[in-house]
Amino acid sequence: MAYVIQDSCISCGACEAECPVSAITAGDDIYVIDADACIDCGACASVCPVDAPIPE
Ligand code: SF4
Ligand code: SF4
Repeated sequence: MAYVIQDSCISCGACEAECPVSAITAGDDIYVIDADACIDCGACASVCPVDAPIPE
């Protein structure tokens, strides 16, 4: 299991600093999560203003 950031991401960057395993980086259009690194903690979703990260 890993979280995935949806296209609704507005690239605010808030989630990047919250990830305990540094799995989130800025992509070309939206932020992206490294599925292999994500530990499914949900911290990114809790700080996102548009609820873009969802568990997949
Ligand atoms: Fe990082 Fe947790 Fe979000 Fe996974 S669910 S990307 S580990 S903050
Ligand atoms: Fe995108 Fe939400 Fe992360 Fe901001 S907090 S960069 S809107 S996923």
